[in-house]
Amino acid sequence: MTNSYLPALPQARSGRAFPLAAALAALLLLPAALAHGSENPSMAIKVDQAGYPLDGPKVALVAAPAETYQLRRASDNAIVFQGRLEPPMSDPATGDRVQTADFSALRQPGSYYLDVPGVGRSFAFAVNNNVFERAYYLAMRAFYGQRCGTAVDLGPEFPGYSHPICHQHGEFHPSSGAKGPRDNLGGWHDAGDYGRYMVNSGVSTATLLWAWEIYGPRLERIQLHIPETGNGTPDILNEARWNLEWMLKMQDGDGGVWHKQSSVSFPGFIAPEQDALPSEVIGTGSFPYKSTCATADLAAVAAIAARVYKPYDAHFAGRALQAARRAWNWTEKYPDVTFKNPPGVSTGVYADANCGDERLWAAAELWRTTGDAAFQEFFLKHYAEQLPGLDSPPLENWNAMGPKALWTYALSTRKGADAGAARAIRERTLAAANAIAARTRANPYHVSLKAGDYVWGSNGVAAEYGMELLIANLFAPNPAFADAARDNLHYLLGRNAFSLSWVTQVGEHPFQHPHHRPSGDGQHTAPWPGLLSGGPNANRQDAVLQALPAELPPARVYSDQTASYASNEVAINWQASLVFLLAGQLR
Ligand SMILES: [Zn+2]
Repeated sequence: MTNSYLPALPQARSGRAFPLAAALAALLLLPAALAHGSENPSMAIKVDQAGYPLDGPKVALVAAPAETYQLRRASDNAIVFQGRLEPPMSDPATGDRVQTADFSALRQPGSYYLDVPGVGRSFAFAVNNNVFERAYYLAMRAFYGQRCGTAVDLGPEFPGYSHPICHQHGEFHPSSGAKGPRDNLGGWHDAGDYGRYMVNSGVSTATLLWAWEIYGPRLERIQLHIPETGNGTPDILNEARWNLEWMLKMQDGDGGVWHKQSSVSFPGFIAPEQDALPSEVIGTGSFPYKSTCATADLAAVAAIAARVYKPYDAHFAGRALQAARRAWNWTEKYPDVTFKNPPGVSTGVYADANCGDERLWAAAELWRTTGDAAFQEFFLKHYAEQLPGLDSPPLENWNAMGPKALWTYALSTRKGADAGAARAIRERTLAAANAIAARTRANPYHVSLKAGDYVWGSNGVAAEYGMELLIANLFAPNPAFADAARDNLHYLLGRNAFSLSWVTQVGEHPFQHPHHRPSGDGQHTAPWPGLLSGGPNANRQDAVLQALPAELPPARVYSDQTASYASNEVAINWQASLVFLLAGQLR
């Protein structure tokens, strides 16, 4: 503790810092100020447990009556900043009365905690440059941990987080229109289960490739310590390719793409290598057996891959483009083949009644990659139908590709773009982002989620709000967009009703019990690292949530239990949205 530090104390931005004399008196009266460091953190004080960028807004929340706060350095408990809490605001989504502690003026890198007299101390957090790099690293490595058809080992940093090769035995299910063995090794386990589903793979892989296209210079140097590291290709592209190769293998000779590869029913809660159920290529059950949404998704993702991988592997880029064109041609022939589980199959469905948005997305990505007039013609004929989808992110991002279709068109620098269409897309996105940013600022928890957004995967919806704000920030740079995007990340990393970091092994108080078979096999004291929880879900589609009190407000319908698949499952689609949001914060 250094009293000499006190005269330089910066004041809260609100200018309502309480008198220095009172702070000094309080310090002198506390015989064991160091004891603060050993006190149990209070759940009423909410901070981003990864931290706050040095040059940005820094806001903590207090959901208990209090007047003042002090920011203390973790190493010696010295007060480095102090201020007065702003008046409480009622938050209907949580039932909390929330006060804001704004210490944005702090410009001293370090590790800190908040001390709120009468309430307690917060979890620790950092203030520095690149406070989200570790979270990005772990969130990306989580994809490596989901790899199927290969042995996985997170290495000396995470001893015991490994499994031998899994799901080697594949075959065609009768619904696929084909027969015999079809191993198709590769891809990522989709979620808490071991299925691999084309449409969810589509949005997830595309989101990672977009993160690279937009934030590549920041991501290039980050090694993920995966088997391909050091091969000359950036690791985010190495990891995405693992799934792309599986997606490409799901394309039939006629260009159509099978909807999924999974066992016919979910296995028990066992390690991947113990799951002996055959991994079946599953189709629609009748001619043409492949589905339009799956095929259009492959066309879109492979078209992105064709431009992204070109500098690193021109042969692969060419193969991807060929697959994209063949897939597109198939959807022209079969524009409306939807999927539902055939009899006897009970794994994930990812049903989507309308593949028009997927086709629009494929056309937009193919045009951006090739410039072929036919793709733009299709796009310009149909894009306006999707404009309303820009007003708010979809609640399930895997079945609503309209926003990505529109954004990729407007982000393209290709000559010959229709200026009116591009302008309509930008303007609608900016209007939405302005409204979202204003709502986020006014929200007591500084999150973009509306009451109706607390659905299955609501944490993914929060990340998608972040993505929309970051895309708007590309169209017209605006600190309000960047700050509101980061606010959604703060929510995911601990500044929420539960004071939980919803990313495993990130922060001092991360959630512990994801619905994730490799984490729930009884072999590990902590879950596999870097995984995002689905989050609060007022629709309560599992027994754990149904047993919670009926009067809980929507943002509180969550339980950190393995059995709560409807609030605590992991999934590659919201994992990818998290990666995009994190990538947008790196420097
Ligand atoms: Zn597997």
